[in-house]
Amino acid sequence: MEKLDSYKVDLKGMSEGTVSYNWRVEDDFFSAVQGPEIQQGQLDVALRVKRTAGAYELKFQLDGTVKVLCDRCLDYMDCPIRAEHVLRAKLGDEFADDGDLIVVPKDDGVLNVAWNIYEFAALEIPLRHVHPDGACSQQMTVALDSLAPAEEKEKSIDPRWNELKKILDNNKK
Ligand SMILES: [Zn+2]
Repeated sequence: MEKLDSYKVDLKGMSEGTVSYNWRVEDDFFSAVQGPEIQQGQLDVALRVKRTAGAYELKFQLDGTVKVLCDRCLDYMDCPIRAEHVLRAKLGDEFADDGDLIVVPKDDGVLNVAWNIYEFAALEIPLRHVHPDGACSQQMTVALDSLAPAEEKEKSIDPRWNELKKILDNNKK
């Protein structure tokens, strides 16, 4: 995961106050993270880390577009991402993440936020995502339509009907 080393945030090393990070994440980021929902996209990510007594507040801002597969035509479509998320972290004995608070081992004191950035982006993808009407890939739509009747044909040859037919045929004898 060397590719994601630039997403390390040195919590222990920072003095009280605020530190800002800015990243532009692109396709190579998504291929390194290997998340299930997003394989391509471009996002501008801004992170402001605020250190207060004994804790850290990490405020992420994501702005850009990711590519996801359209539910209707299975071709890629752009999904705009604009999100703001806050994470809280503190230093402790061993790593823990309960969703609200991340405990970062104090020996290391470094938190890699690559996966957090990925998750914040993935959260913005609507459950059902389709192209606007008429914008679906024509090629894919035609291909899918030609598959549909074949599926129906298969359904009509339900093996149970063949069994029933055998019984009926036997009764006739
Ligand atoms: Zn589509």
